Amino acid sequence: MMPGTSSDPIITLIGAGLAGALLAILLSKRGYQVELFERRPDPRKQAGHAGRSINLALSTRGLHGLQHAGLADTVRQRSIKMPGRIIHTLDGETRFQPYGVNPSEVLYAISRAELQHLLLDALAHTPNVHLNFDTKCVEMHLAQQTLTLSHELTGEITTLIRPHVIGTDGSSSAVRSAMLRTPRFDYAQTYLEHGYKELTLPPAPDGTFQLDPHALHIWPRGTYMLIALPNLDCSFTCTLFMPFSGSVSFEALSTSDAITMFFEQQFPDVVPLIPDLVKDFTANPTGSLVTIKCSPWHYRDHLLLLGDAAHAIVPFFGQGMNCAFEDCTELDACIEAETPDWERVFAAFFSRRKPNTDAIADMAIDHYIEMRDHVADPHFLLQKQIEQELAKRFPKQYIPQYSLVTFQRIPYAQAREQARIHERILQQLSAHINHPDQVDWQQAEHLIQRELPLSREGAA
Ligand SMILES: Cc1cc2nc3c(=O)[nH]c(=O)nc-3n(C[C@H](O)[C@H](O)[C@H](O)COP(=O)(O)OP(=O)(O)OC[C@H]3O[C@@H](n4cnc5c(N)ncnc54)[C@H](O)[C@@H]3O)c2cc1C
Repeated sequence: MMPGTSSDPIITLIGAGLAGALLAILLSKRGYQVELFERRPDPRKQAGHAGRSINLALSTRGLHGLQHAGLADTVRQRSIKMPGRIIHTLDGETRFQPYGVNPSEVLYAISRAELQHLLLDALAHTPNVHLNFDTKCVEMHLAQQTLTLSHELTGEITTLIRPHVIGTDGSSSAVRSAMLRTPRFDYAQTYLEHGYKELTLPPAPDGTFQLDPHALHIWPRGTYMLIALPNLDCSFTCTLFMPFSGSVSFEALSTSDAITMFFEQQFPDVVPLIPDLVKDFTANPTGSLVTIKCSPWHYRDHLLLLGDAAHAIVPFFGQGMNCAFEDCTELDACIEAETPDWERVFAAFFSRRKPNTDAIADMAIDHYIEMRDHVADPHFLLQKQIEQELAKRFPKQYIPQYSLVTFQRIPYAQAREQARIHERILQQLSAHINHPDQVDWQQAEHLIQRELPLSREGAA
């Protein structure tokens, strides 16, 4: 590793969220001076603030990024293992489906706030990092390399000249807005017709979990669904995904009676577990879900976008943060290969990551469409049953897309390519049959050997 030297210019990060904090640690490890500007106050100083608990599913790619910062073990200890999902049917039955084939293939539920605190605490012990809270980036002039900051407590405005700026300021990135004014900058944002609302399922009166904590709970109901992830305080954070408008929608749930009736009809087993259901539902905001794609992500050697600022995705694969952490390790590898030429660092990062972040964005949308339109389709369900059997019979060759994305680190674009091959195989095996018992397993073996030869395993 080529360490940075004291003559290296300072690297400025806008946004000390998940990606910004992790990236600052990695840059400091390389010996660079790093400064961060974060518009919010220091969340660690709001310890008494009993906000809503929001949690995230952390998996292999995210853990790999944290490992680079020496934080993976600490984060694992502060999270809850979810080795599978528990499906809750309308009639109250539950079914456990393991995520992986070996015990290490688990998801980790971690509180977003706790993860953020862990990263900020680690930053506080990192040399050469200067962290500024309550400081919002309001303007950038790329040609002049200036950065205008508004100090949220005093209203003071400061303009600085900074040579290398990285925008880690999330999906509504102010840094990306500056890129919008550069020639031939492509930008697309696409909202889903579904939104989401978070609800808290509290601990039981005796302080214990009301549901099995070692699972991600899902109540799939066709065009809408409820999920729940466990928290260390024995509560669960539930998220309801549902259309904004239409006959069954957030818009339609505008009265207490409508909310109660909807939950009693669709999630009857959940109602007794959330005493403050209507209050929570009414008080909590309804969030929107957006995919953002843009190109390029850098302006010469001056500016780079990373994390959600470069590629926000919808959460149906639980990969946004994992992908943003993978960005951090990938940028680190580009720095290793290309410094001191920062334009080459940024260009290499963009060309390496863009096909992969486009792939995970598309896979997340496909997953959403699958959930929305296909879960009740008998042919789709037949294909899913055949898929499970293929994964069992050919474990080295047929690795389901979910595992490739969640438990492996092959580039997302390769995972999508594999998934397309899987789709072709499943189409052929399921044509003209209506039960998995009717699958021609000789044909299956032939297709697997031809389409997924073992030599590909190295890539996976
Ligand atoms: C409902 C939902 C569920 C999700 N679940 C998962 C999951 O289970 N697993 C997963 O991997 N991902 C999940 N994600 C995605 C994940 O939340 C994001 O991908 C991740 O937070 C991106 O990290 P980031 O650092 O790029 O952006 P952020 O975490 O948004 O951080 C951006 C930071 O920049 C700061 N900022 C913004 N503007 C400015 C400015 N002008 N000046 C200074 N600072 C600024 C913000 O205050 C913030 O601290 C989910 C997302 C949603 C919406």
